[in-house]
Amino acid sequence: GGARLLGPAEIRDLADLLGVTPTKKLGQNFVIDANTVRRIVKTAGVQAGEQVVEIGPGLGSLTLGLTEAGASVIAVEIDGRLAEQLPKTVSLMQPDAALEVVHQDALRILELPGAPVRLVANLPYNISVPVLLHFLEHFPSIHAGIVMVQAEVGFRIAALPGSKVYGSPSVKAAWYGDWRTAGTVSRQVFWPVPNVDSVLVGFERRTDAIGTEAERLATFALVDGAFQQRRKMLRQSLSGVLGDSATASAAMEAAGVKPTARGEELTVHDFLAIARASHLTD
Ligand code: SAM
Repeated sequence: GGARLLGPAEIRDLADLLGVTPTKKLGQNFVIDANTVRRIVKTAGVQAGEQVVEIGPGLGSLTLGLTEAGASVIAVEIDGRLAEQLPKTVSLMQPDAALEVVHQDALRILELPGAPVRLVANLPYNISVPVLLHFLEHFPSIHAGIVMVQAEVGFRIAALPGSKVYGSPSVKAAWYGDWRTAGTVSRQVFWPVPNVDSVLVGFERRTDAIGTEAERLATFALVDGAFQQRRKMLRQSLSGVLGDSATASAAMEAAGVKPTARGEELTVHDFLAIARASHLTD
């Protein structure tokens, strides 16, 4: 039997065949290392028979790792040439694989052909945070996942309050669940080789949402305001969203947050409490 995963030679052959020159704009850095693919699939804890959604399958490196593990994969790809080729590549290498390819912009997709329980992806780096938040927001069937992102972004997503890199992506991610980094990945496993190393980030969704949709929107607006000007005190940066500094102070006090607090110190629950206290959610 032939190879079941793609290596460097297969990746180049496929790119040649399709006339694909990887573009920066679409974050096209393809994994050329089967060990990395198997490591991601293993870290993700993919179970046979499970439905998994992949964002940006590209030439199929990770997709084949997921189908090899017995997952039934829904793959969302924006590049038409890649979306068209993927089913052919996969059926050639793994005839029994279960795969559905959706040729769409993952940032805009509102419906999937199925209810995937897991998200596993090597995300396009320029949109990794928004696309991750979009999927968590719109596809509640996803209860866990592993994504590969630019290292700096991954550490931000998984950061806890008090960390130097804690910011708006950390708080928004925490709205949905618990996050952890799960190992770095060398830039050398990609073609073309990117300028930065990557990190795997895993999450488990909360069993119960911490607030309503209106509360999420209000909380996210506060978070955006709070981290726009990092050096300011929170009551100053929130006065933009809440009208004035007195209103901001009152909402913080009612939420049990000390008046001198900085955004970097607050948990998602603190931000939610301020949103509730400020009646932004009414
Ligand atoms: N999964 C493949 C791998 O590991 O080799 C490719 C990963 S590459 C980092 C990102 C992929 O996302 C590319 O195939 C790119 O075309 C695709 N992509 C970029 N923007 C997208 C979008 N908005 N929606 C869906 N796919 C997108």
